[in-house]
Amino acid sequence: MPKAPRLRPSSTRFFEGVPVILKKALITGIAGQDGSYLAELLLSRGYEVHGMVRRVAIEDPEHHLWRLRQILPNITLHAASLESFGSIFKVVNKVHPDECYHLAAQSYVGYSFDDEFSIFQTNINGTHHVLAALKECAPTCRFYFAGSSEMFGNANTAPQDEETPFRPRSAYGISKVTGFHLTCNYREAFGVHASCGILYNHESPRRGFEFVTRKITSHAAMIKLGRAKEVRLGNLESKRDWGHSREYVAAMWLMLQQERPGDYVIATGEIHSVREFAEAAFAHVGLDYREYVRIDPQLFRPAEANLLVGCPAKAARVLGWSPKTRLNELVAEMVDADLAALQA
Ligand code: GDP
Repeated sequence: MPKAPRLRPSSTRFFEGVPVILKKALITGIAGQDGSYLAELLLSRGYEVHGMVRRVAIEDPEHHLWRLRQILPNITLHAASLESFGSIFKVVNKVHPDECYHLAAQSYVGYSFDDEFSIFQTNINGTHHVLAALKECAPTCRFYFAGSSEMFGNANTAPQDEETPFRPRSAYGISKVTGFHLTCNYREAFGVHASCGILYNHESPRRGFEFVTRKITSHAAMIKLGRAKEVRLGNLESKRDWGHSREYVAAMWLMLQQERPGDYVIATGEIHSVREFAEAAFAHVGLDYREYVRIDPQLFRPAEANLLVGCPAKAARVLGWSPKTRLNELVAEMVDADLAALQA
């Protein structure tokens, strides 16, 4: 006899008389770079996709929901605030998701502790609110927490893996370490299927302009088209492990498909400098970056994380995940998208 499907809070649809259980996913931070790629991936896999966004996003979709433009008719958005347990509880209770991807956070990695109260409030309490609401309303829901390489901060070994001690050196990093421990505690104390991805920098044409990669690719495109003359940057010798967001969200999904929850470093294992990134971006449009990049001492950070480069061996072994896009391909895709957007 075929095994009865596990009782999970999904909805059942009938296709040619055959019942098909559709999984429901709830994504916090769906309007961001990763949220939008993840929503597309889940839709392509037949999920019913729900997203949590701030009220202002629904009121001003042009500014806040541009990454979701193509898929807006296929997803359901709910207004909620990470700071309010009541509003999160309401959404979770309404959706009863099978899988919840908690991506929303204040993601600014300043090392100056200017705004730490608000970062802690949003990132730590927000994670706690989502976990507590799931425990009450959807205890079988699988949970993904978006950790970050910033949790390793001042790491004294490289590359880092799941065993490397956390030594965060930014308010953002501290908030992510706390979210990580909250996730582990819900897993151990309440048996929640809760996993944590420790993701290194990941970029795409949907990256915000405040990040150095997008700042460079958008300026390379503008300069090529005669709409800007130069780009001002800080430390060109800074190094990062840069991957592609589209591939990193696939790793999130794979984590929640495992029988057992776990924690995984998601990275390329390769590092490149800001200088190399700029060189590649300008070379892609036939220009020499040295003629257009101006160094602005104001853009140097007072402190930087140590050498952050991840070892994704566990993800390869357990999830069968490995990064595909090389830096030059990532740069080319981003510059081409910026050129196309400007020309349109
Ligand atoms: P982060 O890893 O989340 O901080 O990602 P960013 O893209 O903001 O920064 C990556 C690296 O680029 C850091 O080491 C920055 O110091 C360096 N960088 C150099 N110039 C700039 C700049 O103009 N803007 C930003 N955001 N970063 C810069």
